[in-house]
Amino acid sequence: MKTDIAIAQANQAAPIETIAAKLGLTAAEIEPYGHDKAKLPGATLAKLRQRPLGKLVLVTSINPTPAGEGKSTVTVGLADALNQSHHSAVIALREPSLGPVMGMKGGATGGGYAQVVPMADINLHFTGDMHALTAANNTLAALIDNHLHQGNQLNLDPKRIRWPRALDINDRALRETIIGLGKPANGQMRSASFQITVASEMMAILCLAHDLTDLKKRLNQILIGYTYQRQPVFVADLGVAGALTVLLKDALWPNLVQTLEQTPAIIHGGPFANIAHGCNSILATEAALHAGEYAITEAGFGADLGAEKFLDIVTPQLPKAPDVIVVVATIRALKYNGGQPLADLDHENLAALRQGYQNLQRHLRNMQRYQIPVVASINQFATDTSAELTLLQDLIAADHVDSALTSVFADGGKGGLALADLVVTAAQRPATYQRLYQDSADVVTKLTTIAQKIYGAAAVELTPTAQRQLRQLRKFGWENLPVCIAKTQYSFSDDPKALGAPSGFTLTIRELIPKLGAGFIVAMAGNILTMPGLPAHPAAEKIDIDADGQITGLS
Ligand code: ADP
Repeated sequence: MKTDIAIAQANQAAPIETIAAKLGLTAAEIEPYGHDKAKLPGATLAKLRQRPLGKLVLVTSINPTPAGEGKSTVTVGLADALNQSHHSAVIALREPSLGPVMGMKGGATGGGYAQVVPMADINLHFTGDMHALTAANNTLAALIDNHLHQGNQLNLDPKRIRWPRALDINDRALRETIIGLGKPANGQMRSASFQITVASEMMAILCLAHDLTDLKKRLNQILIGYTYQRQPVFVADLGVAGALTVLLKDALWPNLVQTLEQTPAIIHGGPFANIAHGCNSILATEAALHAGEYAITEAGFGADLGAEKFLDIVTPQLPKAPDVIVVVATIRALKYNGGQPLADLDHENLAALRQGYQNLQRHLRNMQRYQIPVVASINQFATDTSAELTLLQDLIAADHVDSALTSVFADGGKGGLALADLVVTAAQRPATYQRLYQDSADVVTKLTTIAQKIYGAAAVELTPTAQRQLRQLRKFGWENLPVCIAKTQYSFSDDPKALGAPSGFTLTIRELIPKLGAGFIVAMAGNILTMPGLPAHPAAEKIDIDADGQITGLS
């Protein structure tokens, strides 16, 4: 089979106006970026909001492994399949980050014959949203350091500044830095840090803002640090939220593109699910909900991270909760979870599959807690044997969950018709969305609820630093916010090596960081880093372009 980039490059995309027409929008109602990308501006979103809401389908998966799961691939293929079966479906997806594109995982535009295009543009600079976010983030950082340099009227303690710089590249050398070295004119010397843009509060704010007014309000609420008297200082005190909003005025609007089968796809915002909240913007999901009969969205990494955050942080901000949850699994990844080494995954191993099934089983049960119909999608790989496929279907059926074999990678939308049928049937069943916790609960209760009910932990432990931060949250009245746990994506626990379905462990919370603009408290569990590093052989080593502009090696 051809590579993802070769398939994408061979595709004849429809003009973006044709895709807009499928959403009932005229050429004047979109802002084209070239021939095959467009922004949906505020006035267009307001127009879409007048229409009834469609059904919302959330695609999630088992814990990721190096073997690959294929959430984006299934999301795209499911929407194509729904359109093939005459149900209008619109996709809402996250924007890829250059970190994984150049690093280890690759892009985030699906795979095989279930992709969104233009694949290379979307994976690289797209419509510039990521750069606008980085610029807004670093403008604020520069304004803070300038404030210190110009006399520090706000009395900010340089050792208590809580606003990191950002870059959308995995650059481990920037995790901890010293800035302001040299002459007095170079500003105050202090230690500073960098995060990857997709972990930044700017990204979370963009993804949770309802409109320009809400965006500015959230930017004003950002906590930038504390005074020498340990009083909080906000962006509002600096008086620069207007300028930051201006920097984000276009990035706020969702981007319209298409799949290989010309299904409309709205791609916007891209927080990682391990170190951030993991879901595309609420504006993108909302637009998809009003634009089609079915809105198909995806939450990052396993259902313990992205889906939990979608259901507990994002859903309360949306006009409706999901009607169906699709949990994607692959035979390969389940065998890996069951102890089969990566190099052997091409070989049949029913015992490892049975053992690894525990991972899928727990994710299915977790999703059922939210009282939304749950179905499973088995994303087929060429190496799956029929005995393995039968066993997995039987295991899922024994748990009273419907499953469909999905071959959208090889076959495009027609490989997702069985899944589309399941989703349409499940969407008719009653969904009585039940959130896992209430915001009014105290932080430890919220953390313990997620840790015990979703992760399988016995208890939660706060380090002395986290305990001190908890006292501060209480003192300033910031406890009534949802919690966003930053944790390894590889395991239910905070130990990336504990595969399968570990239980009885203690989840250690290292830090509690108020993100008042985003409106949640980040709880750092285990050794998770908000600025990833590159592997020994980054994907960048394989990426190339020829004299005609043909790209190779992008995946
Ligand atoms: P996720 O969204 O879960 O991170 P993706 O859909 O981005 O996963 O897929 C990850 C990688 O696996 C992509 O490179 C994709 O091309 C590949 N992939 C997905 N499904 C299949 C499949 N059924 N067969 C072969 N490769 C696949």
